[in-house]
Amino acid sequence: MRIVLLGAPGSGKGTQAQRLVERAGIPQISTGDLLRAAVARGTELGRQAREAMDGGRLVEDSLVLGMIRERLGEPDTRRGFIFDGFPRNLAQAHALERLLEALQQPLDAVVQFDVDYRELVRRISGRRSCADCGRVFNMLTSPPPSSESCPRTGAPHRLMQRPDDNEATVAERLRVYDEKTRPLIDFYRARGLLRVIDAAGDVDEVTRRLAQALGAPLRAPRRTRAASPVKTAARKRASVSASRARAGRAVRRKRTALRSSGSKAAAKTARAARGKSPRLGRSGRGRLKGKRR
Ligand code: ADP
Repeated sequence: MRIVLLGAPGSGKGTQAQRLVERAGIPQISTGDLLRAAVARGTELGRQAREAMDGGRLVEDSLVLGMIRERLGEPDTRRGFIFDGFPRNLAQAHALERLLEALQQPLDAVVQFDVDYRELVRRISGRRSCADCGRVFNMLTSPPPSSESCPRTGAPHRLMQRPDDNEATVAERLRVYDEKTRPLIDFYRARGLLRVIDAAGDVDEVTRRLAQALGAPLRAPRRTRAASPVKTAARKRASVSASRARAGRAVRRKRTALRSSGSKAAAKTARAARGKSPRLGRSGRGRLKGKRR
């Protein structure tokens, strides 16, 4: 599954992307996170990106696209990926299209998260993330449960507010979204990839809407997972192969016995074994084929 999550700052793309990572087992590629990591490491890329980020403006396309090209070269993206916060303008969308065409990995869907302006501002002002594990919380709507500790440190989450989540920068980020990113809705609609979901309300409910929009009955997180139909079929096939192998071994044993004894009785036993064998017996073969279909 190769998808883009499209939406204004605070629309919940990051939160839902993290849930998709757990359920679909494909990586989240957040240009915001990659850029923040570069800033924190003090790399040349981080140095160049920092000013635009602090001002709520977009970082230069060439820097972002270089980062994306590099990320798509990593093996974990072969099974799919979730873009979160990328592309953010038409130039990036065209460049991504060309890049994925060259990789023969076109997008499957683009999901737009629809939330009204007042709600966006409310969400951003309450947003905090754990400095250690990166999990995103909202002090107003989804604070970290008191019983939960950080999976990285085992201690309580160390909650931080992003430096660009202040009032002035938020207003600029929302303006930039309207001007530069919103046009991508028509761009992807024209390509037949766009799905729109109502991203207001309960986080679990939005996850359900997202799964529905993707047409994918997403797996529940590991511990509560129900039996997957794909896995059940795979298990059935494995058990059929095992019984074929067992039957084959039985026939070979009988043949060896026949060769060594040369007796009529042994020949009879071997014939009987062949008749029962799903590998060799006609009726057995028919049944197996039927089962596999
Ligand atoms: P949000 O969606 O809440 O604004 P992000 O974490 O996606 O937050 O982005 C934070 C900042 O990083 C943006 O305001 C922008 O400066 C920069 N940024 C992230 N993604 C891109 C991108 N694709 N192109 C240009 N700048 C980006």
